[in-house]
Amino acid sequence: MITYLDHFVRKTDSNSKDDDVSTLCKALDLQGSIDSGATDVASKDFGGMNYIKPLAFIRPASTDDVAKVVRVVARTSNLTVAARGNGHSINGQAMADRGLIIDMRSLENHFHLIRINGLPYADVSGGALWEDLLKWSVSKFGLAPRSWTDYLSLTVGGTLSNAGVSGQAFRYGPQTSNVTELEVVTGKGETLICSEFENSELFFGALGGLGQFGIITRASVLLQPAPDMVRWIRLVYTEFEDFTRDAEFLVSIKESDSFDYVEGFAFINSDSPMTGRPSVPLDPNQDFDPIHLPPTASSILYCLELALHYRNTDHPSTVDTGVNRLLAGLGFVKLLKFEVDVSYEEFLLRVKRAEEHAKANGIWDAPHPWLNLFVSKLDIIDFDRMVFKKILKEGVGGPMLVYPLLRSKWDNRTSVMLPEGEIFYLVALLRFTRKEPSAEKLVAQNQEIIQYCIKKGIDFKLYLPHYRSQEDWKRHFGNQWSRFVERKARFDPMAILAPGQKIFSRIP
Ligand code: FAD
Repeated sequence: MITYLDHFVRKTDSNSKDDDVSTLCKALDLQGSIDSGATDVASKDFGGMNYIKPLAFIRPASTDDVAKVVRVVARTSNLTVAARGNGHSINGQAMADRGLIIDMRSLENHFHLIRINGLPYADVSGGALWEDLLKWSVSKFGLAPRSWTDYLSLTVGGTLSNAGVSGQAFRYGPQTSNVTELEVVTGKGETLICSEFENSELFFGALGGLGQFGIITRASVLLQPAPDMVRWIRLVYTEFEDFTRDAEFLVSIKESDSFDYVEGFAFINSDSPMTGRPSVPLDPNQDFDPIHLPPTASSILYCLELALHYRNTDHPSTVDTGVNRLLAGLGFVKLLKFEVDVSYEEFLLRVKRAEEHAKANGIWDAPHPWLNLFVSKLDIIDFDRMVFKKILKEGVGGPMLVYPLLRSKWDNRTSVMLPEGEIFYLVALLRFTRKEPSAEKLVAQNQEIIQYCIKKGIDFKLYLPHYRSQEDWKRHFGNQWSRFVERKARFDPMAILAPGQKIFSRIP
C-alpha cells in the first residue's frame, strides 16, 4: 500500500491520474469515495487568496473511513491530510499541498438527543453545519445550543477547532466551553472518545487546536430551551469610551439583569450603504437621520447590538418594560435606537440573509482578507485611536466588529490563546472587496495593524490565527508553546494533520 501511495505521489501530473485515484480508492477500501474531479473545490477557501491543489478529495462515509485515511497517510514518507469543514477559512488553513483532503460534510449528518447528568446534549457529527443543528434541535425538541457564531454555515468540527464566538459568549463562553465529549481520530489513526475526564489532554488539545491533534468526528453540544422570539436592538454611540463602558457593564452584570446577546461594531459616519450609517437600521422602514448626531461626532461611530429572548406567551408590555429597564442609564444617542422583533431562528440566521445579498452583488465570492484579533481591555482605547480612527478611517467594505468577552468563561486548558485580564475584545475586520483596493493592499493593511500592535506592546492575540513561520507561532503561543508541542508529539507525531496551518513540518 505505502509503495503504491509513493508511486501515486510521483505520478500526480501524469494523464493516468483518474486511473490512479480509482486504484487508490480500492486500496483504501473506503465505504465512502475519492473524488478526483472535486480537487478544485478543496483548492480554494472563503478567503479566496490561496489556491493549493490537493492530491485527492476524500468523501468519508464514517469515522472508520477517516481513521483508515489517516493511518495510511501516517505510514507514507511525505503525505499530509487535512479535514475540510465548510472551507470557510481565510488563509488556506484547510488545504494540503498535494496531500489528501477529507470532506467532513460527507460524514453522515447524524443528530441524536442524549442526556448526561440530566442535561440535554446534541450528539452531532463533526461535519454537521450549525444551521442544521439549530433547525433539528428547535423543531424536534424546542432546544438549542447556548453559544453560537454569527454565521451558521460553518461546521461543528471547524469552529470547535478555533473557538466559536458570538454575542452569547460573554455569558456561556465560546462554543469550545459548551461541549462535553468529542470523538477524535488522532494523527496516529486511533479513534478516541475524549472529555474532561477521559483522554483529557486530547479533549482540551483538540478544542481550539487548529486541527493539529486530531479530526473531530463527533461532538456532544450542550442544549437549553430555545426562546420563541428575540427583541433585536441597535444603539448608536459617538464616543468609544461611552460605548466600551456600556458594553463592559452589560457583559459583567448578573444574568437575570442583562441581555442574552451583546455585540458591537464600528462604522463610518457616511452614507455608504455597506459601511456607513445605512448599515445600522434593522428594518427597511427605519432611517438613520444624521441630524440626531451631536456636532462633536467624528468620522467613526459605534453601535452596540443587543438581543433579549422572550416567549410568545410573554405580554408585549412585559418585554418593553424589561428592555427599557435594561436600557435606562446607557449613554447612547437617544434618538438613534433601532429595534425589531424577530423569531429566534430568524435572528440566528441573520447573516444568511446578508450572504444572499452579498452573493447577488458578487462580493461573496471575491477575496476576503479578514483579520480577527482578541485585544485586551487595557489597550482597546489605544487600539481604537490608532486603528479604527486612523488606519481604518475609510472602513473595510464590511463590518468592523468590536465587543467584549470574559476570560473566566473560557477554559485555559484548551489550545485557544487569549490576552491577559478578565475583559478582552473581539475585533473582526470583515473585509468585502471589489476590485480596488486590491486584496494585496488590504493584506498589507492587516500587517500594518499587527505591526502597530506589536510595536506599541498592545496585549493581543490573533483569532483564527495565521502565521507563516514557527517563530511567529511560538510568539503566539507564548508560555503555552511547549504544551502545544508536547500535545503534537503525542497525538500527531509525524505531523501529518492540517498542514495548511503552517505550524509544523511533516516528519519524513
Ligand atoms: P474549515 O475552514 O474547513 O477548517 C478550519 C480548520 O479546522 C482547518 O485547519 C481544518 O483542517 C480544521 N478542521 C475542519 N474540520 C475539522 C474537524 N472536524 N476536526 C479537526 N479539524 C478540523 N468564527 C467565529 O468564531 N464567530 C463567527 O461569528 C464567525 N463568523 C464567520 C462568518 C463567515 C462568513 C466566515 C467565512 C467565517 C466565520 N467565522 C466565525 C470563522 C469560522 O469559525 C472559521 O472559518 C472556522 O474555520 C469554521 O469554518 P469551517 O467549518 O468551514 O472550517
